[in-house]
Amino acid sequence: MALYDCSKCPGYCCSYPSIPLNKRDVERLAKHFGISFAQAKKKYTSARYGEEYTMRRKADKYFGRICQFFDTEKRCCTIYQARPSICRSYPGGRCGYYDFLSFERRAQEDKDFVALTDNTN
Ligand code: SF4
Ligand code: SF4
Repeated sequence: MALYDCSKCPGYCCSYPSIPLNKRDVERLAKHFGISFAQAKKKYTSARYGEEYTMRRKADKYFGRICQFFDTEKRCCTIYQARPSICRSYPGGRCGYYDFLSFERRAQEDKDFVALTDNTN
């Protein structure tokens, strides 16, 4: 059983500076948007952090920068069916950010509390 609830989280993990994709992930994005591999690579990825493909990001009010496919108002993924493999497997059984968030929401008696970070790098 998962010990976290992404629907109650502002999407911290989607703000990681490096969200690496593999070739298959780029192919899936290309198929999802009905464009070529080369177009998807150029439009949605950049080569950073020693990775051939990492997710491009955009501005976010909570975390500075966040995945380009994140809905910054509804706080959810807009390409859930086509999301990369790393997003499918993360975070495993437990999420440290959610543990912290839940603890602070209880401690501060504020169910909407958001633990801010700056992931602009
Ligand atoms: S940080 Fe944790 S709880 Fe929040 S969206 Fe990511 S996996 Fe889900
Ligand atoms: S593809 Fe979706 S789940 Fe993955 S980082 Fe982007 S918004 Fe988050």
